[in-house]
Amino acid sequence: MKDTERKFKQKTYLEYVCGKCGATNEISIKDNIICNICHFNILFKKRSIRVKKIQAV
Ligand SMILES: [Zn+2]
Repeated sequence: MKDTERKFKQKTYLEYVCGKCGATNEISIKDNIICNICHFNILFKKRSIRVKKIQAV
């Protein structure tokens, strides 16, 4: 079962924009979502989730 652990050990960072100061923060999905600059805890995802086009048959 450790093999599956390794697969997900890679850190994924997401870009968040602070709701207070507007700074862009790269935050790991495991970390608390807090602005690095003003420590405001309401951040918005910067990038919209890409939707893959899947052909429905
Ligand atoms: Zn901030």
